[in-house]
Amino acid sequence: MRTVYLNGDYLPENEARVSIFDRGFLMADGVYEVTSVLDGKLIDFAGHAKRLARSLSELDMQTPDCMDDLLNIHRELVRANDITDGMIYLQITRGAAADRDFAYPSADVKPTVVLFTQNKPGLADSPAAKTGIKVISIADQRRARRDIKTVQLQFPSMGKMMAKAAGCDDAWMVEDGHVTEGTSNNAYIVKGNKIITRHLGNEILHGITRAAVLRFAREAQMEVEERSFTIAEAQDADEAFITSASTFVMPVVEIDGAAVGSGKPGDIAARLREIYLDESRKMAI
Ligand code: PLP
Repeated sequence: MRTVYLNGDYLPENEARVSIFDRGFLMADGVYEVTSVLDGKLIDFAGHAKRLARSLSELDMQTPDCMDDLLNIHRELVRANDITDGMIYLQITRGAAADRDFAYPSADVKPTVVLFTQNKPGLADSPAAKTGIKVISIADQRRARRDIKTVQLQFPSMGKMMAKAAGCDDAWMVEDGHVTEGTSNNAYIVKGNKIITRHLGNEILHGITRAAVLRFAREAQMEVEERSFTIAEAQDADEAFITSASTFVMPVVEIDGAAVGSGKPGDIAARLREIYLDESRKMAI
C-alpha cells in the first residue's frame, strides 16, 4: 500500500479521494510532471519544477500553496514508500468547482494537487536500452499547444496502442511531413555523427531530458542540429533514439518496418545514455 500526497495530506492510496467535479476529471484541465528517482534521489528536479510553473502560468492556473514545498514532498514520498528506483507522478488540476462550467472557477476554488510514486526497480538498467525499440509513424492529431504539459493524453495513448497493435513499442507523430515527437518522448536521428532533433516550438513538449542531453552532447563536442526531419530521412539515418525522464536515452532500431542503420542500437545513443545517466546521478538531489 503506497503513501500518496493529496492537497497537503500524506494518505494511504486507498484513502485519497478526488471529487467527480474535479476539472481534471471532467475537462482534462490539469498539468503534470514525471520525475525519475535513481538510488533514492531525484533526477533533474529543478527542470521539472520550472516547466511545471510554466505550464501553470500558460494556462492561467493558480499556483498551489504547496508549490515552494514540492521538493520536500517528493523526498517525503520517496522516503515513505522506500523507493530506490522509480518515478514520482505529480498532477495539478484547476480543482473542483461547485458545478461543471467551461468558464474557470473563482480564485477560492483551490487547485487539486496529487503526487504518487511508481516503484521501478532497475529503471536505468532496462533491457530495451540494449536491444533498442521499434516505432511506427502516425499523423500527429494532438492539440496545437503541445509545449504545455497538460493531462490531455488521449491521442498519445491511442498512438501507443496503435504501435502495440503493429508489434512495435512506440509511435513517432508526423505533421506536415515532419516528425514532431514520440507519444511521450522527444525524437532524434543521428547522421554522420550529427545529432538532429526538432527545434523547440508549440509543436512539441520541451523535454527536460532533451535539454540535458543536448547540453551534455555539446559539452562532449558532439555536433547538434535542431531542425525537423521526415520519416524517410529517419529511416535512412545512422541511428535514432528517444529521450524522456523515465526512459533516459533509448535507442530506436526500426521505424515503420525499416531498420535504422545496422538495426542495432547505435554508438552515439549508447554514449549519450551513459553520459546522461552518469551526469544526472551526480546532480541528483
Ligand atoms: N514529449 C512528450 C509528448 C512527452 O509526453 C514527454 C514526457 O512525458 C516528453 C516529450 C519528454 O519530456 P521529459 O524529458 O521532460 O520527460
